[in-house]
Amino acid sequence: MPAAKPRIAIVIPVFNEEAVLPELFRRLDAVFAARPDEEWITVFANDGCRDRSGALLEARAASLPGTRIIELSRNFGHQSALAAGLAHAADADAAITMDADMQDPPELIPQLVDAWRNGAEIVLALRRSRQEGGLRRLGFEAFHALYGRLTDFHFETNTGTFGLLNRAAVEAFNRLPEKHRFFPGLRAWIGFKHTEILYDRQERAAGEPAQTLRRLVRYALDGLFSFSQLPLRLLTYAGLFIAFMGFAIGLFFIGRRLLGLEIAFTGFTTIATLVLFLGGVQLIGIGVLGEYLGRIYDEVKRRPNYIVKRKTGCE
Ligand code: UDP
Ligand code: MG
Repeated sequence: MPAAKPRIAIVIPVFNEEAVLPELFRRLDAVFAARPDEEWITVFANDGCRDRSGALLEARAASLPGTRIIELSRNFGHQSALAAGLAHAADADAAITMDADMQDPPELIPQLVDAWRNGAEIVLALRRSRQEGGLRRLGFEAFHALYGRLTDFHFETNTGTFGLLNRAAVEAFNRLPEKHRFFPGLRAWIGFKHTEILYDRQERAAGEPAQTLRRLVRYALDGLFSFSQLPLRLLTYAGLFIAFMGFAIGLFFIGRRLLGLEIAFTGFTTIATLVLFLGGVQLIGIGVLGEYLGRIYDEVKRRPNYIVKRKTGCE
């Protein structure tokens, strides 16, 4: 355990959150005030906010030491903003990652810290429940149920961004170079000793979810394709199966011919079905290959994950 006052960084990506920031600040301050034995710093990643969020953050940084703002040059997305925040939290003994909208309640921070002080290297906040309804909820649930089975390593489902990483884990995370980032997967991948605490995921405190459904789908695909080669393997199996069926059917017809039996079936429907089916399977195969290829392309370009325009409060 580090000396006297451990330094804890709260890392929060922010994109157009003017509606929730004042309450977030208030609730964070209450947590900090109740825990004088830790040194608290906050790292906000301003992910190209187009509303008053930037001004609100600057005002806080001006009045509260230990507030850092990493302003990105445009909107790079949740995962990149999170990476930017963590990259500027490596001097802390532990970093807590959370969303700005208080779906991850700040009041849980002390529990995360206590679990860490009791020896955990990574603390995951697991959702006991969530408030989203309808299609969004169904999507989340289906994804998590599937995802746990698909990945090539053990992955704790029902986690999001919320949790704590100790310094070594933050450093490990910061060394990961990849562009398509899926935070819960990467956090599981880097290893370390995990502890879990349970919480009830809240409704967004105000404002609209910044993550559109399209982005969520893309995020889910990133999670799948960057941690599993199962889609490729499934294609191989499908190919083997279809090739075997073709072989068997071929043998069947050759046999009938050799035996001098009738083989002239009226076959338009059969052939049309087969052609379409095989064409479809092949296109799916090309699509899956494309998903991997596109990701490889993005990685080999070696563009950074984000561009920092300005830093405030970083020494
Ligand atoms: N966010 C971001 N960049 C984006 C989209 C979102 O930094 O392009 C931040 C947002 O401000 C919030 C967190 O990421 O702090 C999660 O976003 P949101 O609540 O919209 O997502 P959801 O709760 O639907 O996962
Ligand atoms: Mg949210």
